[in-house]
Amino acid sequence: MADLNTDVRYIKGIGEQKAKALGKLGIFTLRDLISYFPRAYEDRTTLRPISALIPGETACVQAMVAAPPTLSRIRRGLELVKLRAVDETGAVDITYFNQAYLKNSLKMGQTYVFCGRVEGTLLHRTMTNPVAEPEGRRERTGRIVPIYPLTAGVSQLLLIRAVRQGLDACAGKLSEFLPEEVCRENGLCPIGCAYENVHFPASQEALEEARRRLVFEELFLLALGLSGLRSRRQSLLVTPCRPVDMEPFYRALPFSLTGAQRRCVEEALADMCSGRPMNRLCQGDVGSGKTMVAAACVYFTVQNGAQAALMAPTEILAEQHYRSLSPLLESLGIRCVLLTGSVKGKARQSILEQLSDGTAHFVIGTHALISGDVAYKDLGLVVTDEQHRFGVAQRAALSSKGRSPHILVMSATPIPRTLALIIYGDLDVSVIDELPPGRQKIDTFAVGTGYRERIYAFLRKEIAQGHQAYIVCPQVSENEEMPDDRKAVTEYAQMLQQEVFPDLRIAFIHGKMKPKEKEAVMSGFTSGKTDILVSTTVIEVGVDVPNATVMAVENADRFGLSQLHQLRGRVGRGSAKSYCVLIADPKTEEARQRLRVIAKTSDGFRIAEEDLRLRGPGDFFGQRQHGLPSLKIADLSCDMALLLKAQAAAEELLRADPELTRHGAVKRRVQELFTQNADTLN
Ligand code: ADP
Ligand code: MG
Repeated sequence: MADLNTDVRYIKGIGEQKAKALGKLGIFTLRDLISYFPRAYEDRTTLRPISALIPGETACVQAMVAAPPTLSRIRRGLELVKLRAVDETGAVDITYFNQAYLKNSLKMGQTYVFCGRVEGTLLHRTMTNPVAEPEGRRERTGRIVPIYPLTAGVSQLLLIRAVRQGLDACAGKLSEFLPEEVCRENGLCPIGCAYENVHFPASQEALEEARRRLVFEELFLLALGLSGLRSRRQSLLVTPCRPVDMEPFYRALPFSLTGAQRRCVEEALADMCSGRPMNRLCQGDVGSGKTMVAAACVYFTVQNGAQAALMAPTEILAEQHYRSLSPLLESLGIRCVLLTGSVKGKARQSILEQLSDGTAHFVIGTHALISGDVAYKDLGLVVTDEQHRFGVAQRAALSSKGRSPHILVMSATPIPRTLALIIYGDLDVSVIDELPPGRQKIDTFAVGTGYRERIYAFLRKEIAQGHQAYIVCPQVSENEEMPDDRKAVTEYAQMLQQEVFPDLRIAFIHGKMKPKEKEAVMSGFTSGKTDILVSTTVIEVGVDVPNATVMAVENADRFGLSQLHQLRGRVGRGSAKSYCVLIADPKTEEARQRLRVIAKTSDGFRIAEEDLRLRGPGDFFGQRQHGLPSLKIADLSCDMALLLKAQAAAEELLRADPELTRHGAVKRRVQELFTQNADTLN
């Protein structure tokens, strides 16, 4: 008797060799086999008379082989089997490439169903390599047929037959693990029915039902698991921070915090006083003042006698944070140090000593902060800035340097609310939904390349008023397929200097420059010694030069919406009116639409929603190597509505049964889903 855990070799036709090939697809047991879902389907239900076939379409006919198939060897490695098949309405000539065995297996006088693309003309119809199957067999024709992802040594037919046997052997043993009321309230079909129809749908409707049930199930388990991670974290105990008088910190600031900033600070401080490790995401649009929220948390931590670390994704950002935060915090008695990859030798040694003996209270840096030889006396708080550049694993590496330090993640890439729970499902979220006062709207224009002269004139005017400008070009490319090399940063800058603005001070920066060079360029721009900075997207994230009022982006159609929004956020940081000019000759309607969205919207969250709608969720997942279980069947770009239902159902279940003690089967499934990822996720 077979059950779900029986080895796939139990299946007729699967021996050592095939089992090994299936193993590459992750299929070892019958459960794996029947959980190996098709990637697509072909509806081969309808059989058509040959005379009705139109060249160009894909269709199925039921036809008799009219004469013995012929085999010809054209040359080595090219063998053709040819045959003519007929029904009462006409004939079709069929050719197979390199399938010599068909010469004998397709027999004259017998009727087969052939499915494939019709070629030739209305007078002479042909098919190449159609699927063929004896009439009445209905494995690969005469029904909605599953199409599986394959690997070497595994064919569609092998999988179809194996899955069929697998389902026959144990579909009945799939026990319903979803609570009855969840199935009822969400109109889900029973589990056995779902597995049968996701592989061998009785109809389109049955397929829809099956998919709906399985997608729901997957998202439901994911939502439960994420809540579980959150509550597991909440069961970790740390010494609660004691309340601190924050007035000295607030008094030291050159401005007062916005209501939203204060609320985020309070939420974070409450976390740190709770006796559980904080794991909070602070989301705020560009320029909303996330850095000060971090600074407040650093002050609070250090007043509690512990150390804090801030990890930035680039050296430029780390240095900028160091420059802006250390004067403020040092004035409050907090000893700050900078640790990046370019801090070497004696200087590095000294910083390491200060971190391990506790003389340094606050360290700002890049990935260097998580390298092996960095030890802390008592690391209490880890802030990661612009976290979408960091994977969960890196966050985990940094936290491992303290005893469950508090974690604050700052992100300027707003994630659509609908996705936040999946992408940041293990974090609590604060949102800074208010900009500091006095900010002006950044006027944004999308223009064609024909406007370039006018844009240069505009830049000149702004610079004449004492302002500065950025021009962003796409990445320096290693391959030489760059269609317009004016856009390569260095050449573009040179061209501007020589041909357009000989009297202005132009500098350039890109990711391949040495850190020292980058630093020199940035500080030249920050101190106003440069008028125009030509750059790749290295300045995308977080760079703060209030005197810059124009952001021009070349080839703007190549960027994602959220990225353009980030770039735009580099201007409008001072009191002067600022502008963003997007230069592009977009070739697709989608690209045109994206540029329109960015030109008329300034709300990062709305832009993110649009990005999701236009480009799907891939971009958001890409930004975070999230380490979440990968989804087998759910597709978040179209299954969003189900996601919301699944989340609601998960929350309801957890309210009634927080530990899932009364839902053991659900609990086991959640654990299975999360086993591989459990270590990196918390
Ligand atoms: P982001 O959220 O993009 O990281 P920053 O923290 O860099 O934003 O802040 C953007 C600018 O706004 C900085 O120059 C900062 O000094 C300033 N700023 C932050 N908070 C306030 C505030 N409450 N009032 C006025 N200016 C502020
Ligand atoms: Mg920032």
